[in-house]
Amino acid sequence: MALIVQKFGGTSVKDRSRIFNVARIIMNTRNAGHDVVVVVSAQGDTTDDLIAKAAEISSSPSRREMDMLLASGEQISIALLAMALQELGVSAVSLTGWQAGFNTDRAYSRARIKRMDTERVESELARNRVVVVAGFQGLNRSDDITTLGRGGSDTSAVALAAALHADRCQIYTDVEGVYTADPRKIPKATKLKEITFDEMLELASLGAQVLNNRSVELAKKYNVELEVISSINPVPGTVVKEEANVEGMLIKGVAKDSDVAVISVKNVPDVPGMSFKVFSLLAQRNINVDIILQSSGAEGKKDLSFTVPLGDAESAVAALQNGASRFGGGEISVDKNCAKVSIVGAGMQSHSGVASTMFEALFSQNINIKMISTSEIKISVIIDEQDADKAVAAIHDAFIN
Ligand code: ADP
Ligand code: ASP
Ligand code: MG
Repeated sequence: MALIVQKFGGTSVKDRSRIFNVARIIMNTRNAGHDVVVVVSAQGDTTDDLIAKAAEISSSPSRREMDMLLASGEQISIALLAMALQELGVSAVSLTGWQAGFNTDRAYSRARIKRMDTERVESELARNRVVVVAGFQGLNRSDDITTLGRGGSDTSAVALAAALHADRCQIYTDVEGVYTADPRKIPKATKLKEITFDEMLELASLGAQVLNNRSVELAKKYNVELEVISSINPVPGTVVKEEANVEGMLIKGVAKDSDVAVISVKNVPDVPGMSFKVFSLLAQRNINVDIILQSSGAEGKKDLSFTVPLGDAESAVAALQNGASRFGGGEISVDKNCAKVSIVGAGMQSHSGVASTMFEALFSQNINIKMISTSEIKISVIIDEQDADKAVAAIHDAFIN
């Protein structure tokens, strides 16, 4: 008998028939003799709908109230799924994130899990119940509800699996596993049998939404092997683990992230401390800077360009404008029509010519590269947003098909 954590995303529980489909998957796992802890997301587009509802009331709602609102989506799912299990004759109990012991820091809308208190979950398991836990939510030290950021139910599932020392953590979703690109956009994308934590972490961080990047971080830290699997077609999925069989694949995947803006500060004085002065203004506002490019400008001047998450672009520009006197001023501009397209694969460490193949694919589509960044296992380029889908297809063709 094993202890299995099974997570079901929004589309997997979007309506009555999907809920019963999920309940049957859980029942079959129970009938095979296993203990099951289930983590569920809000149904279908519920979270987006709740965000839209908030926007009807306020253009800048308080983050605390947003978390209070968004956490309600998952609460609907756990109750309905527990009812469906009970209808099938399976003993089940639903628990909110706080009942299940998710203690987080105070950062509303992007809270991090600080501690797991699993007594309640364990006592329910001891009573032979399937425990259905609301993903995405926790409680901070002031007993206020927090959420873990979009896609956070994956993280909830991995955290529970780690805390309970579960034998398996299965992430059920609406595709059959992790593919070499988003299978909804690239029909030729192929399913990977296995992928390493490091590769998956890059793919998830670079835009492949199939797993939330924090969940992969956590899985790597606690060595929780993940299985990404379809809730609709019962076929083998993708295993995410420390070491994977590379099968001679140079590139494991191509990802696109449109959540990027490029900010340029032109003609700043070319003197020591300039980068510190510019970027400390952004650090003060907790804005994450990703790719940075510095080039020489006119006489005694230089240009700085860097990327920030799209949602932080306005705040970044405001911070730079307010603090312009600190770095001697410059022309500040922002380009929001950008996308980051990346390739990921541990195999590129030991092969030459990977970058050149990627750039050739972009050239073949006449796509201009604005910025480039590399690490041992990934190459990213910033290009115009309208070219991004074409770029992903061309790059995927060059490496995988
Ligand atoms: P869930 O609601 O189950 O959490 P998500 O919508 O968060 O599901 O993630 C699944 C989606 O991720 C798929 O429907 C697919 O379109 C998208 N996706 C993006 N990149 C990939 C990839 N490389 N492999 C598989 N799916 C991907
Ligand atoms: N419901 C949340 C979201 O839509 C969490 C999740 O689905 O993982 O982001
Ligand atoms: Mg998800």
